[in-house]
Amino acid sequence: MNTTEIMTDLEPLSFPGLQLERPIVISGPCSAESEEQVLETARGLAAIGVKVFRAGVWKPRTKPGGFEGIGMRALLWLHQVKRETGMLVATEVATREHVMAAIDAGIDILWIGARTSANPFAMQEIADALKGRTTATVLVKNPVNPDLELWIGALQRIYNAGIRRLGAIHRGFSTYGKHLYRNEPQWHLPIELRRRFPNMPILCDPSHMGGRRELIAPISQQAMDMGFDGLIIESHSNPDCALSDKNQQITPESLSLILNTLVMRDTKQTTENLAILRQQIDRCDNDLLEVLSKRMRVSHDIGVYKKEHNMQVVQTQRYDDVLQSRIRQAEEMGIDGEFMKIIMQAIHEESVRVQVEIVNQENEETKK
Ligand code: PEP
Ligand code: MN
Repeated sequence: MNTTEIMTDLEPLSFPGLQLERPIVISGPCSAESEEQVLETARGLAAIGVKVFRAGVWKPRTKPGGFEGIGMRALLWLHQVKRETGMLVATEVATREHVMAAIDAGIDILWIGARTSANPFAMQEIADALKGRTTATVLVKNPVNPDLELWIGALQRIYNAGIRRLGAIHRGFSTYGKHLYRNEPQWHLPIELRRRFPNMPILCDPSHMGGRRELIAPISQQAMDMGFDGLIIESHSNPDCALSDKNQQITPESLSLILNTLVMRDTKQTTENLAILRQQIDRCDNDLLEVLSKRMRVSHDIGVYKKEHNMQVVQTQRYDDVLQSRIRQAEEMGIDGEFMKIIMQAIHEESVRVQVEIVNQENEETKK
């Protein structure tokens, strides 16, 4: 494995006179809309101690006709935020021109959006524009689709351009249809990213993940409990009038409340009590495995019986009855029905696979 694959020499997110510490908080509007909106929001955020200001200057919109950002002119407003409040400033870049313009305007942190990180051509173009700009700080959002390798590939392209102040932003993954989250968290993906690149800072974006104001606090807490390094949260001086993502933007005052109630737990310590609880989990898993193995043996015997009596493997009515009754029983026992459904479907799929194998094996034998 070479260093590109493991990216061991990443640097902490520190700037002259400012080392960003956990939890790193980046906040500001989804889009820079006007000089007043940008400055008013920035002043509110500076007053509550936020150190990094964000604002989208170029906005990727799902359909044409939406507010596509102010463009270059808004970079001057960000520069003004920096001068007036001393905050670092961050914006999204998606093309070579964006990178050049943002760096020339003194933008401290560039982030790459979810639609862009899903596109290797765009990522390579950005990486090429960053070559030789080794003092740049770049954060790469996860691609819109839940593809960890694509996310890692996007990070590696930036790393290969010589950038060492590099981090990831987990903003969830899009799905079809209506769900609780605007973008499904799929927490196992950033957890796996952390396992593979332990020294890469990972921030969570509860605004785009939740899509709703009331989800920002619980998602932020969950991210902190999982050991994320920080949060990027959309805020606006007048959220209800925002030109983009208004349902998920909050005022600097609400942000302050959320940050003040965040509980920071020490993720690295294993207390004695935790060790005892983990032993209990190990025992439960052992019991689960024994029961599962017994169930599979019974299922095997049923396969043999079905073969002998020339019965078909999948009996739809029986499967449906089992599924419904187990879900009901699970819910009565305080277990989520959807979760139980996934487990029962997986168990049933494996039983069917085993029984089909039995039936076919015996057919082969009869042929001989
Ligand atoms: C944003 O941060 O404003 C944005 C467009 O986010 P994402 O790329 O996560 O959709
Ligand atoms: Mn947004």
